[in-house]
Amino acid sequence: MKCLGIESTAHTFSIGIIDEKGNVLFDESSVYKPPLGKGIHPREAAQFHTEHATNVVKNALKRVKDIDVISFSQGPGLPNCLQIGASIARYLSIKYKKPLIGINHCIAHIEIGKLMTNCKDPVVVYCSGGNTQIIAYVGKKYRIFGETEDIAIGNAFDVLARNMGFEMPGGPKIEETAMGGKWIELPYVVKGMDLSFTGIVTECIKKYKRDVNKRDISFSFQETVYSMLTEVTERALAHTGKDEVLITGGVAASKRLDKMMKEMCRDREAKSYTVPKKYAGDNGTMIAWNGILDLEQKIKLNESKIMKNWRTDEVEINWLK
Ligand code: AMP
Ligand code: MG
Repeated sequence: MKCLGIESTAHTFSIGIIDEKGNVLFDESSVYKPPLGKGIHPREAAQFHTEHATNVVKNALKRVKDIDVISFSQGPGLPNCLQIGASIARYLSIKYKKPLIGINHCIAHIEIGKLMTNCKDPVVVYCSGGNTQIIAYVGKKYRIFGETEDIAIGNAFDVLARNMGFEMPGGPKIEETAMGGKWIELPYVVKGMDLSFTGIVTECIKKYKRDVNKRDISFSFQETVYSMLTEVTERALAHTGKDEVLITGGVAASKRLDKMMKEMCRDREAKSYTVPKKYAGDNGTMIAWNGILDLEQKIKLNESKIMKNWRTDEVEINWLK
């Protein structure tokens, strides 16, 4: 059984092909990078995908024959970008007469993390450019225990980085710059189980304009936002009684977050796993793997419209016992 998965929720157009044992047979991405000082412009990202998707599709079909099923990111994401992946998926499904499966992008980040790290039933720290959620599987659904009230943590990194003159993506630049920085006090915004990042970014930008150096800002920003995430994750562990944590999504590439979460888990006799960097950011392989898990779903063409605000906890999970 081989599934071809298409990802196109935002900056990345990607195709992955995977078999039912989890062997990755193909994996290729093309990534839109906004001009210096700018964020992702949805129309320009979609235009970029239109220009580059054909090549990725051709390479995938050349490399792997006998695909059994096609899956695609049906949401959440930027509508212009989602449309491109959805259209290509529908076309391939009709042309090769293969079933079509619509995948929730956030859940695909969780399932690829579980596959690649071998953890079983974690509290998930899903932190990316577009989403920040603390999630756990309870009663047939991936429930959201806490989330951002405003922008996603990855977006917070990117906005701060842009304002300090760094290129996108901002996360790696801030991580590099933070080395050897010293602590300065910043707002710490946890409300119950929810988080907020915009005020912290604003304060950092203010400090930068007042000539506080980039190193101290980067260091303190990282320490603050990762402490917030870790605090909420610890409460989710206590509440659910689970003993595993999984960090997934683009921000999972952060070594500092990995270390902080591992320290918290050690004290509670829990274990923290981080998705390998290659599968941390958006990728088609995670959509393909979720297609394999959710084979029973098989949607009709008239059910394949994109869902830009599709929430993690709206999906009935039929593949977990
Ligand atoms: P995604 O939306 O899942 O593709 O993730 C992309 C986001 O991950 C962007 O906002 C990046 O800035 C962020 N990111 C990537 N590497 C790192 C890192 N080392 N530290 C913090 N954030 C990162
Ligand atoms: Mg993502």
